[in-house]
Amino acid sequence: MNEAKSRVFHEIDFDKPGRQVGYLRVPQSRDGGAWATIEIPIAVFNGGPGPAVLFTGGVHGDEYEGPIAVSRLARRLDPGALRGKVILMPALDLPAAMAGRRMCPVDGRDFNRCFPGDPKGSFCQVLAHFVDSVILPQVEVSVDVHAAGNAMEAALSSNMHHSQDAGLLARTIAMASAFGAPYNVVFWGVDETATLAAAAEARGVLAIACELGGYGRVSVDGVRIAERGLDNVLRHFGMIDGRPDTTQADGSPATKHMEVRDQRGYVFAPSEGLFEPLHLPGAPVAEGELAGYLHFVEEWEREPIPVKFRSDGYVWMAPGQGRVKKGDVVGVVMRPYAG
Ligand code: CA
Repeated sequence: MNEAKSRVFHEIDFDKPGRQVGYLRVPQSRDGGAWATIEIPIAVFNGGPGPAVLFTGGVHGDEYEGPIAVSRLARRLDPGALRGKVILMPALDLPAAMAGRRMCPVDGRDFNRCFPGDPKGSFCQVLAHFVDSVILPQVEVSVDVHAAGNAMEAALSSNMHHSQDAGLLARTIAMASAFGAPYNVVFWGVDETATLAAAAEARGVLAIACELGGYGRVSVDGVRIAERGLDNVLRHFGMIDGRPDTTQADGSPATKHMEVRDQRGYVFAPSEGLFEPLHLPGAPVAEGELAGYLHFVEEWEREPIPVKFRSDGYVWMAPGQGRVKKGDVVGVVMRPYAG
């Protein structure tokens, strides 16, 4: 399974005790740089026996809370107080993170649609193959910190795939509960087979992701929840001292578990135009209620098209990009998790 040798090289010894910081060097030949590499930051903390976890950010370059929270953890984590191993990659798709873009500017790909990767492929494929074949086999737990990018804003949440394996499902929900975001969304997946989370699951790794902001800016609450959540996961697995703190800003004690079970949760743009949303993330909505209007500013004669929700629930993802194309998602509705 995907065990062809990686072309990525590095000087990290994953078994060495203590703290190491360095770079993965991904070969990227270019004009004026035959042996050029792109250097991806990585930190490894080895505190002896215990679980091994992977925390990632910057899988999409227009999502900023993960890079801030994961790199700050790399500066403050004390390997002497750690049981087990923590691998931190705060800006995985570094060229995209430097450009503030979702798609990688080197090869035009979405890094989170490149798993399990290809050691002979493009930059994103080579890097995905390294993560899948070298990093994931070393860990039991993966937390991938995202936000909703330039296009959307998310109700601050962790998320996880549904599983037929009741034990795995329970352990993943327990980890998401410990992470302690305001919401955790269990979802049945649309186009989810080539993501980091899917690759982690295929390797038996307990995996959650998060959506902790969006609209192309840094969310104050998103960074706070990300930092606390990573600490909470380490506490949950007994890797650092203390108990997870899951108190919410509204005074409630714990994460609310939600779900997106099928396509009815998604609202699609019926045409190209300018989308005016009517709801903020977290707002309660009803089936048939207006999600927003699609405007046609180039034609006086054309009335805006009302776009409706197809499910009761709460807004998980709210659009904010303005211009949309036919078929773009302009809202996602989550419902209370039914188990
Ligand atoms: Ca994302």
